[in-house]
Amino acid sequence: MVAIETVKKMKVFRRLSFLSILLVMCLLLTGCTDQQVEDAIDIGVDILFEILTPEDETTSEIEDTNSPNSEPVILDGTMEVHFIDVGQADSTLIIQGDEVMLFDAATKKRGDDLVAYIQDLGIDYIDVVVLSHPHDDHMGGAGELLSNIKVGKVYGPDIFELMDSLGDDTPGWYEDMVNAVDAIDAEQNKGVPENQQTSIWHFPRNSNGEFAKFNIGEAIVEFYAPLEDEYSDKNDYSICAKVSFGTVDIMFTGDATSSVEKDLIEEGYNLDVEIFQAGHHGSDTSNSKEFLEAMSPKCIVISCGMKNQYDHPVESVIELYKEMNIPVYRTDESGNIVMTTDGATYSFNVDPGTYTSGADYKKGN
Ligand SMILES: [Zn+2]
Repeated sequence: MVAIETVKKMKVFRRLSFLSILLVMCLLLTGCTDQQVEDAIDIGVDILFEILTPEDETTSEIEDTNSPNSEPVILDGTMEVHFIDVGQADSTLIIQGDEVMLFDAATKKRGDDLVAYIQDLGIDYIDVVVLSHPHDDHMGGAGELLSNIKVGKVYGPDIFELMDSLGDDTPGWYEDMVNAVDAIDAEQNKGVPENQQTSIWHFPRNSNGEFAKFNIGEAIVEFYAPLEDEYSDKNDYSICAKVSFGTVDIMFTGDATSSVEKDLIEEGYNLDVEIFQAGHHGSDTSNSKEFLEAMSPKCIVISCGMKNQYDHPVESVIELYKEMNIPVYRTDESGNIVMTTDGATYSFNVDPGTYTSGADYKKGN
């Protein structure tokens, strides 16, 4: 279980960092004058402040590609975003230059369809796989994917303790995924001393608490969430990410609920995007009006299955999209949806879909 062990060690390191600062503060305070005590507290508070507020530093480094003052960016070719039709699940493939990212990995049942779709495009290596949160419809096909296509890095939230605590109720897809990760880790750590071993699995934040920001070709990927370490709703562990190519931005929030959407607004992120992948397949637990207004998307892509058991997209949400005049593209109506952008304009391979709710489809309307 190299993956689990490696990620647990990383977690322990984060806790130790905090403990060592507290220890330094205690040592500084022992046998000091009042002035020295005050100085020591100031130093300790400064260190803690730096550790606890890394997001601000990260945010300040982010280039605002939408800024009217920024130099025109010459981009290499186009970016393709494939919203793959994997039924009632998410899986989105992003291709820019010679680099590829996959955001979510379908269900266990559709894992082989996902692998076939990617291989049919001639792709045999994925630079980054993001697995938003521990539900079958986002991570389910990860075991199949990782066993069949070479992957550079996996980003996923810290869900290991949570999933291990399920005991006998641990889902099969989770075991498949962990086994696949462990097999990759064992291979890459062959002959590597234990203290230098690494895992393909990476958390969205580094040991200093900073969210990952990286490139896929010339596209920029920024993670915005999860902001907390623990949530009562597994959906809220969702990694939220903005992918930007030139001035075209796409927001992915997995199944994060409106409570997280509120946190994203309050965090002060630049949420302005052109395209939003509907939160939670168009559920009313996500897609708050406030969040939609903060993003002001020009269009929304809904990944959901026709006549799905949850009635996604739900009536109130699809009505809200309609009321806000946001065109929708839907995998349940159109199958695979491909958006292509040159960094300034974008187009879809299909026409916009209807504002028919999942429940109305079931009723046969
Ligand atoms: Zn989902």
